[in-house]
Amino acid sequence: MRRNTIILSFLILYFTALNIMSQEFPDTVIGINRSDYRVYLKTHAPLDRLYCQGEDFYFLVDRNELRQVEESGIEIRDRYLAPQENLVGLEISSSQGDINGAYHNYNETRSLLKELETRFPGMAQEITIGYSIEGRELNVIKISDNVQSNESEPNIFIVGCHHAREWISVEIPLLFAKYLLENYSLDPQVRRAVDGAQIYIMPIQNPDGLEFSIHTYRLWRKNRRYNGGFIWGVDTNRNYGYMWGYDDNGSSPAPDSEVYRGTAPFSEPETQALQQFLTANPPVGSLSFHSYGQDILYPWGYTFTPASDAARMYAIAREIAYRIFLVSGRVYTYGSMITSLYLSNGDFTDWVYGTLGGLAFTIELPPEYMHEGGFFTSEQMIASAFAENLPVLLYFTNYFITGSDEIGFDDQEPFREKVSPLRTSQSF
Ligand SMILES: [Zn+2]
Repeated sequence: MRRNTIILSFLILYFTALNIMSQEFPDTVIGINRSDYRVYLKTHAPLDRLYCQGEDFYFLVDRNELRQVEESGIEIRDRYLAPQENLVGLEISSSQGDINGAYHNYNETRSLLKELETRFPGMAQEITIGYSIEGRELNVIKISDNVQSNESEPNIFIVGCHHAREWISVEIPLLFAKYLLENYSLDPQVRRAVDGAQIYIMPIQNPDGLEFSIHTYRLWRKNRRYNGGFIWGVDTNRNYGYMWGYDDNGSSPAPDSEVYRGTAPFSEPETQALQQFLTANPPVGSLSFHSYGQDILYPWGYTFTPASDAARMYAIAREIAYRIFLVSGRVYTYGSMITSLYLSNGDFTDWVYGTLGGLAFTIELPPEYMHEGGFFTSEQMIASAFAENLPVLLYFTNYFITGSDEIGFDDQEPFREKVSPLRTSQSF
């Protein structure tokens, strides 16, 4: 009996080790001409696209995908190894405790939200809306006057970190929560936002993935669902219920794809929690932060047919781009998701707009290109990205409080020259 237990323990250890060793991470970046890629998509699952350069798309691929591309006969025009270091772009001056430096990990984020609730009991309320696959809390902080009661004020929802490797997307929502609470008595614009709206902020939608990206594989994107066959992860931003699985280009039915949509709409606890929470508290406006690319995107992501509110969302996106430009001079392009080349279906922004009816935007934070660091944003980037997005967050909240379509757009010359909408001809 005892011997059997020892043998059993040994076998469990053996298979756990085998399991970890067999897990293969994508490590190669390849460039393919976009018309070749269109042909490739007819018979293969979509690849994990990092950026485009001229007429070429660049993808992160694992050994198996690389073999499939080679066997398909299309030309690989460029190829290099992806950077793998955990600490690229980080400085020694790091202020948080973990190896992700000044960036907040799951525990640091959770502690800060709970600390804010304690410091500002009348204005902040931490709400655990569910648990991730690995059992981590899914934390939302509600910020409003009379925070304990549900008032008839517009709900604004701000979320970060659907994708694990996009660390900077945690920081903007989190720092906004802190800023609102600490500046309520100092800044009339903040007071107006907090008094007039119910602001819900969720810095980390995918905590398991974030921790995996910090401690194991920096370029991890999906959640940590085990799909069988040594394959992990569902792309939670392809798992929402609006037009889920509409086609196999905007998401994939293949578990090893980086845009795997899961077995069913809302199959993942991270999206289920949001479905329940936001159905009960539907937002009139939402912002979902990602990186990178410097884009402001709105529905639809699944089709080229313009959304019925396309003109209004275009005007808001332009306002957002303008406010960013005024702070930092950084240029964010804007347009509907599909015109930005990011074909997607089952994503958060389409679902909020299509099912809940809220005006919904995805903001791709800096940098613009892979060679500027891509996902490896520096610690210094946190302050500058927050500074340029703070007026955006305040503008966006106040826009729904006044309930007016009036846009205060000031069409200044340097802005008009530099910040242009996305070209709609870019499509595949
Ligand atoms: Zn993303």
